[in-house]
Amino acid sequence: MSRLNIAKINNVDIQKINSGQVIIDLQTAVKELVENSLDANSTSIEILFKNYGIDSIEVIDNGDGIDRLDFKNIALNSYTSKLSSFDDLDILNSFGFRGEAIHSLVSTSKSFQITTATKETYPKASILNFGSNGLLISIKPTTRNVGTSSLITNLFENLPVRRKNFIKNHKREFNKAIELLTNYCLITENVRLKIFNILPKRNNKNLIIATKGLNNKLKDNIYSVFGSKIFNFKSLIEIDFSLNLFSTSKVKLVGYLSNPSPKMGVKSPSHQYIFVNSRPVILKNLKDLLNNLYKSFNLLQYPVFFLNLKINLNMIDINVTPDKRTILIQNETEILNLIKSKILDLYHNSDAEISKNNFK
Ligand code: ADP
Ligand code: MG
Repeated sequence: MSRLNIAKINNVDIQKINSGQVIIDLQTAVKELVENSLDANSTSIEILFKNYGIDSIEVIDNGDGIDRLDFKNIALNSYTSKLSSFDDLDILNSFGFRGEAIHSLVSTSKSFQITTATKETYPKASILNFGSNGLLISIKPTTRNVGTSSLITNLFENLPVRRKNFIKNHKREFNKAIELLTNYCLITENVRLKIFNILPKRNNKNLIIATKGLNNKLKDNIYSVFGSKIFNFKSLIEIDFSLNLFSTSKVKLVGYLSNPSPKMGVKSPSHQYIFVNSRPVILKNLKDLLNNLYKSFNLLQYPVFFLNLKINLNMIDINVTPDKRTILIQNETEILNLIKSKILDLYHNSDAEISKNNFK
């Protein structure tokens, strides 16, 4: 390749290069829309996949809606209503703050449409269409309850290799999306989440998951998502640990964890969900710790867990990757040690001790 002199890439191309990295697959696309609905204080969110998301993905919420003054900025890159300076990150608890998800969705899909009404405009609503550069193309009047619907058609239409790959593996991609959405169904309280897949040829609307909403807690959500068939609910121990880190910082771990007695776990490490401040995250060290501890009591099975680590916002860094699934925790080693000793106490005090002897 002939070498060019070093020069700045033009802004349009920079945005194209970057936006392909924000929405990388079906699961990140739908996750971003659901997070926007949760950030808008919705209590009911419907997620409609058409043809496993190949034809369209629509998320319909009853949140705050979007102010008319904001319409032109919704899909522009780095435009957000959630953060005004980097320092805000320490006090921010919204899912979004980077202002790049919608921009990435409009630039990689065939079309992106928002329909929104606020309590000031209701029942009047607006249908907004955006161009692939993020500029608002049209506003049309309609009616709608207070809230927002976001509709993506032909995800990755403008990234042909990714589109082909998605279509080829659509069932696997769809399952990954459902698995990620399951995290939100489990952890969101006071929100009714419903997920459907619509198969156009047969014109049937398959309900995939529905949570109850209205005062639903983690426990209700576990029932709604998994029913009573998958594992024995009686095998779950409720966890409510206060971890005193250097006497100043309070860290809590709450949720449910399998009892390590024989037959109380499951055959494979499925059903393992970790959240930090109710945000679904990948926290490999905690996951490994929980599996290893369990193994020392019950060699033949794996634990089921749904655990939420509650921690001061200034002790975590969620801005490691665009999807915010990777998280850095200050004093992670100390926190894990505290968790370890609490769980060992718990396991020793449960009838697990008997099973431990059995496995010797
Ligand atoms: P971010 O969530 O990081 O702010 P997004 O690109 O996801 O960036 O969204 C841009 C802005 O559009 C948000 O800051 C918010 O003001 C608005 N928005 C998007 N979706 C919704 C929704 N469902 N309800 C209300 N406002 C929304
Ligand atoms: Mg967002």
